[in-house]
Amino acid sequence: RAKDIGRNSFQLFTPAMNAHSQERSLIQSHLRLALVHNELELNYQAQINGVTGKVMGVEALLRWYNPILGQVSPAQFIPMAEELGFITEIDHWVLEQACKQRNLWLDQGLDCGRIAVNISALHFHQGNLVASVESVLAQSQLPAELLEIEVTEGCFIKQMDKATDILGQLKNMGVKVALDDFGTGFSSLSYLTSLPIDTLKIDASFIAKLPHNFRESQITSAIITLAQNLNLDIVAEGVETDAQKIFLIERGCVIMQGYLYNKPVCAKTLPKIIQDA
Ligand code: C2E
Ligand code: MG
Ligand code: MG
Ligand code: MG
Repeated sequence: RAKDIGRNSFQLFTPAMNAHSQERSLIQSHLRLALVHNELELNYQAQINGVTGKVMGVEALLRWYNPILGQVSPAQFIPMAEELGFITEIDHWVLEQACKQRNLWLDQGLDCGRIAVNISALHFHQGNLVASVESVLAQSQLPAELLEIEVTEGCFIKQMDKATDILGQLKNMGVKVALDDFGTGFSSLSYLTSLPIDTLKIDASFIAKLPHNFRESQITSAIITLAQNLNLDIVAEGVETDAQKIFLIERGCVIMQGYLYNKPVCAKTLPKIIQDA
């Protein structure tokens, strides 16, 4: 153990750390090739109006299956893609696939509302999101109103002018913007007054504690009131139980995304979920 080695000496590498970093570099080496090897796929999760049952939108969620590593969670590989400098490439691929798929469903008459696509904060600041969205919409023929970009509070910690400009341009194109994982970031709330945001998504960590935990219940209620007063749409993420659904509806949040309704599914399965909704 490090403390047994004595003062002024550091043990830089423990066997556990070594295994961990070896696993990381293994994953990273495969991640570099995931796109060209066709290992990425999108899943889709419906957002449901809990009162009417209507499907309001669908979120595209990235999946990576590698023959050696198996299924790797986006919570693990998205941060790696950011570090390795190809998150912009991955997000652009997701945007392309999602818009193409949504336009196909439009042609088939499948009524599933907007398609929501997650954009990493790194991509938001380093890439050219506006140009990327423009070219993908032109290429896919998808009406801009059917696209929603999901960003996180991390996009607004620095370079507020640039962020305002990017969101303004998206708005002018007719694209909607949702603020994902709302309430978990460390940014100030003042950006809500200056940025053209359409939707707040209450983070699943709050929803998980409803309705019995006092603090999370209070915070959730306050977020709903805030959204209503600012005239923003509101979506609850990670709704798993009827009790959570009832709590949310009573307080005025009717759109929900979660296992209570459906899990993310592949493009082939989604139409069945929409028709059964
Ligand atoms: P997110 O955007 O907040 O997505 C919601 C996550 O909650 C998804 O996890 C979804 O599968 C999961 N979820 C939905 N309903 C429930 C529920 O009822 N209970 C529980 N426990 N979980 C639920 P997933 O697909 O593993 O994605 C994790 C995160 O990875 C996403 O969080 C998003 O931040 C990121 N991500 C996923 N796809 C992309 C992508 O294409 N680009 C970028 N930049 N990030 C992505
Ligand atoms: Mg999201
Ligand atoms: Mg989220
Ligand atoms: Mg997230």
